[in-house]
Amino acid sequence: MFEGVGKPVFSGIAIGPARTWRQEQAPLPEPSGDAAAERQAFEAACETARAQLTGLYETACRELGEEQAMILEVQLLMLDDQDFLESVQARLEAGEGAARAAKATGEEFSEAFAALDDPYMKARAADVRDVSQRLVNILCGGRQEFSLPEPCILLAEDLTPSETVQLPRDKILAFVTRQGSANSHIAILARTMNIPSLVQARDLPDVEDGCPMIVDGFAGRYYLEPDGQTLSAMIRKAEEAAERRRRLEAYRGVPTVSRSGRRIKLLANIGSPDDVDAALAQDAEGVGLLRSEFLYLGRSDFPTEEELYEAYCQAARKLGDRPLVIRTLDIGADKQADYFHLPAEENPALGCRGIRLCLCREDIFRPQMRAIYRAAALRPLSAMFPMIASVEEVRRAKAFCQKIRQELADEGVPFGEVELGVMIETPAAALISAELAKEVQFFSVGTNDLTQYTLALDRQNAALEEFLDTHHPAVLALVRMTVENAHAQGIWAGICGELGADPTLTELFLEMGCDELSVSPGRVLELRAKICESEV
Ligand code: PEP
Ligand code: MG
Repeated sequence: MFEGVGKPVFSGIAIGPARTWRQEQAPLPEPSGDAAAERQAFEAACETARAQLTGLYETACRELGEEQAMILEVQLLMLDDQDFLESVQARLEAGEGAARAAKATGEEFSEAFAALDDPYMKARAADVRDVSQRLVNILCGGRQEFSLPEPCILLAEDLTPSETVQLPRDKILAFVTRQGSANSHIAILARTMNIPSLVQARDLPDVEDGCPMIVDGFAGRYYLEPDGQTLSAMIRKAEEAAERRRRLEAYRGVPTVSRSGRRIKLLANIGSPDDVDAALAQDAEGVGLLRSEFLYLGRSDFPTEEELYEAYCQAARKLGDRPLVIRTLDIGADKQADYFHLPAEENPALGCRGIRLCLCREDIFRPQMRAIYRAAALRPLSAMFPMIASVEEVRRAKAFCQKIRQELADEGVPFGEVELGVMIETPAAALISAELAKEVQFFSVGTNDLTQYTLALDRQNAALEEFLDTHHPAVLALVRMTVENAHAQGIWAGICGELGADPTLTELFLEMGCDELSVSPGRVLELRAKICESEV
């Protein structure tokens, strides 16, 4: 038996034969020596690639939703990227054949992306590799095709976006990749598919197809040719997990009320309108945090007001009359998009992010607020501002909202009511929550950032884990203070950071009187069970 580790991106147990993702590659043709003919061949290959990607985009939209399909749009854009095309052209002029030029340029660009610090840009290395591999395959007459005869655990170095789109989903029990990150396409797909998966399984050896394998997505471990003892332990673990899921089904459609009658709203955190489906499938009572910055990532320019409006209307329609809380753009720090062209900062987590950026850049704030107010014509909505640290910031944001309402009214554009709130995710906001409560209609505590800023501990730095006390009394005291100050002023307070999903704190949050918990869709039923069984 071989036992290895990886970073789990989705929990669960999978048992089945391993199968390595392989791409058949025909040998690269020798250069013809005719630069004009090679150029023509390259341009024709680009046309074919465009047609293939457009077809894949449509399939992906249908089967995976628009958000995932957007990665294929990124690849389509790469086919028109001037730097990429010029680099290929220079190689063609130097006498390289079209296939070799496409391959070498793809490798060069992919290495350059992989060397960047920004995790989003790093993940784009896979897109470049993917698109140039497609060109090479076309030029070599090879095809990107992969079939799986039986359900299996799929092993790969990493999987590119269009590879993942082509996978026969019903035949995949789990993914294990040597590369990849929590942001990588494969991790996103695993979460969408609800299957256990590991990334960064660096020691994964070459495995023969059909080799018996187990993936433990709870513990971040995998076993090749497991011995009898491991196999029976894992079967037991899988049965226990299935039994837990079956038991939780009893809490579907049940009001979230504790035994002593405390009612708490259980909502979901999402990143796009497509995720509303997952939230509803898990019986969330609505959406307590739509991280709108995800509508800005994975693209090469700002979304327009119309695009934002459509996205918010789509989420609002799907949710019917259930609550929808849209957080205004929280770009900056770990979430960057290069078209913002933000100046590099020495301490981005303490930099021009969240509400600060919106207050400095009305051109970015305006389309968001117009889209939110316009979508509210459909039904009431809530919006909240991230990274608030002062009363002045809230007043400026509210004044801006008032200006937007006036603009829409003057233009005769329909708009509706928006409940305004703030995220409490800086210690300053928690400490002045009594004052902030006079300005807004609700609070949502972002414990991820509140913990980072209270403990002065970078949430991105895995090396600091030994110093991270997620139940630090200072953080819990700030949460309590926030809830009390909200109630003293007659407004509601919820928690949308990860701590809200920690079942060991559920009773404490009930006792504090939290009105709402907003968590990943997959945690809803588990927390409802916890609350319904609680005596608090
Ligand atoms: C938080 O900080 O707790 C939060 C919910 O926001 P994000 O994780 O998106 O920063
Ligand atoms: Mg935050």
